[in-house]
Amino acid sequence: MKNDISEETSNLLTYDRSKLLNSKTRIGENLTDKLVLKTDREENIRKLESQELFDIIVIGGGSVGSSAALDATSRGLKVALIERNDWASGTSSRATKMAHGGVRYLEKAVMNLDWNELMLVYECLRERKHFYQVAPHLSSPLQLLTPCYTLYDSVKMFAGLTLYDFLSGSEARLGNSGWVSKKSALTVWPSLKEKGLYGCMTYYDGVFNDSRVNVSTVLTSNALGAVTVNYLEVIDLLKSTENGEVNGVKVKDRLTGKEFEIKGKCVVNATGAFVDKIRQMDDPTCAPIISPSAGTHIMLNMDKFVKGIGKQLGILVPKTSDGRVLFLVPWEGKLIAGTTDQPTNLDERPSPTSSEIDFILDTMKSCLNVPLSREDISSSWTGIRPLVKPPTNSSEGTKSISREHYIDTSKNSLITVAGGKWTTFRKIGEDTIDMALTVLFKKSPNLAIVMDPLSKTRDIPLIGASKEWENIKQVNNSPSSSISDETWDHLKHFYGDRATEVLELSEKSKLTSKLSEKYPIIEGEVLYQVKNEMALKAHDIIAYRMSLMFIDRNESKNIARRVVDVMGDYYKWNDQRRLKEYQETISYIDECTKN
Ligand SMILES: Cc1cc2nc3c(=O)[nH]c(=O)nc-3n(C[C@H](O)[C@H](O)[C@H](O)COP(=O)(O)OP(=O)(O)OC[C@H]3O[C@@H](n4cnc5c(N)ncnc54)[C@H](O)[C@@H]3O)c2cc1C
Repeated sequence: MKNDISEETSNLLTYDRSKLLNSKTRIGENLTDKLVLKTDREENIRKLESQELFDIIVIGGGSVGSSAALDATSRGLKVALIERNDWASGTSSRATKMAHGGVRYLEKAVMNLDWNELMLVYECLRERKHFYQVAPHLSSPLQLLTPCYTLYDSVKMFAGLTLYDFLSGSEARLGNSGWVSKKSALTVWPSLKEKGLYGCMTYYDGVFNDSRVNVSTVLTSNALGAVTVNYLEVIDLLKSTENGEVNGVKVKDRLTGKEFEIKGKCVVNATGAFVDKIRQMDDPTCAPIISPSAGTHIMLNMDKFVKGIGKQLGILVPKTSDGRVLFLVPWEGKLIAGTTDQPTNLDERPSPTSSEIDFILDTMKSCLNVPLSREDISSSWTGIRPLVKPPTNSSEGTKSISREHYIDTSKNSLITVAGGKWTTFRKIGEDTIDMALTVLFKKSPNLAIVMDPLSKTRDIPLIGASKEWENIKQVNNSPSSSISDETWDHLKHFYGDRATEVLELSEKSKLTSKLSEKYPIIEGEVLYQVKNEMALKAHDIIAYRMSLMFIDRNESKNIARRVVDVMGDYYKWNDQRRLKEYQETISYIDECTKN
């Protein structure tokens, strides 16, 4: 029996990473290697207000807006991308962080014989692989166990996951689904509830660092020529006096209070859950299309649940008491658990509620045999799903709304894009720009001659993801300030081939000391992110570039003072400014996360 178990567990995690990376789709390999980032904010603002006419202005720097900007820029269009807070500070940093086909949607598709839902799964499975091809340093395949407690569950999961594999086809499949016995499952995940367990189905999906993929997409579009500015809010739309067509935006700089106008032939509204606010600037009488729905996650220390190889395996609990699924996802050395689905109001800084956190803990307790309490939580966060409204007769609440994306052109030619999933962000960007071209070609028929009509984003690795990223070697120019192997691995994981630049800058600036005793981050990263990744506030760094706010909220507060000091030394902030920045950071973390 012992041998059977070790044979079964050795069958886990057998995907071939090199096969994923060596796909033919990485032909844009060197496109971003030689390009230079233009991250000087003042210079970028000057370009925006220079009365230059942009082909496309994209409002919203989440996954959708940044993908649309990258798609348009790489087709040869002149693009402006603007975001009222930091890049990725909306829903796009608050996901379960899974690139997935959607096992849950597959069940819905089969049960309801819903062809559209089936096609959504098919599309997601293809786009899922895109992550490993364009950002291999920020993503990886994830094998999940699905505990089955009845024969019916086992047969149902087997049938569903066989269909999942079939829909992936050999090209998009990350690995094969399979079965592990109860004994093997408990060997790798000992905290699973044992009573009544038949065994576990295993299957593959993917996991990625959402905010870093988002920021990297913005940086890649910037390197290819887009003018990208964060902390710039659209407060109104400009319209032609001749025909009422939208031909630009009025913005307010949230850092200086200055207002100005940006002119564009086509405006794309990619503001996530907030799209109705922009739509109503175009047509105050238009009916809202968004049903905002809040989803909360909690972050836990893994050691309590799982040891060894199991730390690389996720868990999918197929049915919770509210009819959803519960994911336990290993991420950045911790375990994410979630999510919830509740109608909510719009909020720029949504905050997890106690009842949502308790719901997740209770659901975990019902399928695990370890004691759990609020003290086990190192962070928690809430995101707002920009779900496009269901037909009026739906009585199932937001759970029943399709996760497909929606793109619309208003009578005044405002393009609005909403809904969809992170997994399909590339395709959403492509579809949005395809639709924008119909507006653009009407206004500038000659554009068709100078631009590429087809999307290129399948072939563009994100910044940091050149072919050699995995093989780059640590070069220590000053051995006295050398960093640990753990820190070097972290730099490669977060920055890909740019890890060498981060280390060089850190050494030159004498900032190779660790920022935290608990995590392998170093002080030089702060300076690098300010200079090269458009970070303007300390919470931009702690939350959206280092991910620490989501991993460990207390530790993120512990490092806040040092982060502010490194920024303050660079910007020459006085003590008063440093104190203000520090206090703002602490209240930001307190508002956005709980434990
Ligand atoms: C709890 C939860 C879990 C999820 N998990 C997954 C998952 O595991 N996998 C998956 O594939 N998908 C997942 N999703 C879905 C996915 O995260 C979202 O569909 C996606 O992030 C939406 O991106 P977006 O760009 O439309 O919205 P956002 O990320 O919210 O971006 C919109 C941006 O527009 C900006 N903005 C708004 N108004 C203005 C203005 N006036 N001027 C300038 N900027 C403005 C906002 O500040 C914001 O940054 C999840 C969603 C939730 C809520």
